[in-house]
Amino acid sequence: MNELRDEFLSRELHEECGIFGIYNNSDAASLSYYGLHALQHRGQEAAGIAACDTGGEINCYKGKGLLAEVFNNEIIATLPGRHAIGHVRYSTADANQIENVQPIMVRSHTASFAVAHNGQIVNAPELRHELEKRGSIFQGVSDSELLAHMIQVEEGSFEECIVKACRRFEGAFAFVILTNKAIYAVRDKNGLRPVSIAKLPEGGYCVSSETCAYDIVAGEYVRDLKAGEIVKIDDEGIHSYQYTDDTQYKMCAMEYIYFARPDSTIDGINVHTARRLSGRALAKREDTEADIVIGVPDSSTSAAIGFAEEIGLPYEIGLIKNRYVGRTFIQPTQKQRERGVRMKLSAVSSIVKGKRVFMIDDSIVRGTTSKRIVQLLKEAGATEVHVRICSAPLISPCFYGVDTSTYDELISARLTHDELCEFIGADSLRFMEVDEMGESFGTKNLCTACFDGQYCTKLFSYGEILESEKNK
Ligand code: SF4
Repeated sequence: MNELRDEFLSRELHEECGIFGIYNNSDAASLSYYGLHALQHRGQEAAGIAACDTGGEINCYKGKGLLAEVFNNEIIATLPGRHAIGHVRYSTADANQIENVQPIMVRSHTASFAVAHNGQIVNAPELRHELEKRGSIFQGVSDSELLAHMIQVEEGSFEECIVKACRRFEGAFAFVILTNKAIYAVRDKNGLRPVSIAKLPEGGYCVSSETCAYDIVAGEYVRDLKAGEIVKIDDEGIHSYQYTDDTQYKMCAMEYIYFARPDSTIDGINVHTARRLSGRALAKREDTEADIVIGVPDSSTSAAIGFAEEIGLPYEIGLIKNRYVGRTFIQPTQKQRERGVRMKLSAVSSIVKGKRVFMIDDSIVRGTTSKRIVQLLKEAGATEVHVRICSAPLISPCFYGVDTSTYDELISARLTHDELCEFIGADSLRFMEVDEMGESFGTKNLCTACFDGQYCTKLFSYGEILESEKNK
């Protein structure tokens, strides 16, 4: 329990991953590289690709860093075959040991396969403990490795072993699995993580966390996986299995608000459109007067456009993002941290000087970034900064693979609304209501647990830790 608590308390922002798979294409590894490139926003800490031919050996290459740092043409040439899966990973420092970089390879007398995932299995500590007692030896802590062990200890056909393993899992997960006969894609029974299928022009198929990856490989979107579905793609085409009929749709609201690329469509809802509609909904309740609307780039741009449309004010580019800031920038002192924000974002003085500004952002986590952006805008001459957030206050941690920070660090869980407004230095502050988010996106099928503490699964040991943190 102590290790679990340490892990819980040391978590940082944004653990997300991207998965991609391809079946039956002469450039499987190379196309996987391009597909993963479109998913790079979901993880920049490590990347990997495993590939094989029908009946052949699976080769895998993976490493830490951006996709372009891990792979080059020579390395991709070492991954021959018509089938492949790949992964991009964002993780905390502790969990970023090479053992956790995916795909995870299994070579045993019963089966050889590679597996990669996105999400978090909340009963993983309990299952890992159970398997260790039965003799399994784990190299790392990834849920992909857990699935690999679960498949190996179950009995039956490969499909039956996947079904049995998934039935034991609680939480959020999307898996891709590669064997030398097929690829498999799995979506959890609560539909918390996105994964869909597309058809390739020459007849093969691909699967991806986000549909934005299909454009780059000329894939034609077929459909999203259903909650609780396992899809097998082989020479006969697509086969569908339900590992359970006890399903619901609780897509992570944060995918629409922050994580996914605006050109992706998840469960039939385009992400840009969802954000734009949320901006419009937020503007409908507005009674403050201002001169211009600006968005915090990039994830708030669509919402800011919607807000400006609805309220009838000009949408302006008041903040510029520098895309070339190193992602491992070390920030040991307050002064260096402040310089770090200035390196990432600049306020455009000629746009905001002398203006009352609506500043649209997607969320507030610790509050320190919002505080610095408001300060930047005021230093650039904005006379008033009214912060409008296109989501509800974040009050509870995520246990489904997105590190929205620990309970202690979530500023909305600690401060009142007025205290938070004062802390960030805004002239006014307003969030969306929890119900308003789904209404504006056009769906009721959302997980909003980090906004309302209503988790759609049991939390197992994490639930106990959360309660003790709340009561501290
Ligand atoms: S708790 Fe929040 S971040 Fe986690 S899956 Fe639910 S909506 Fe997404």
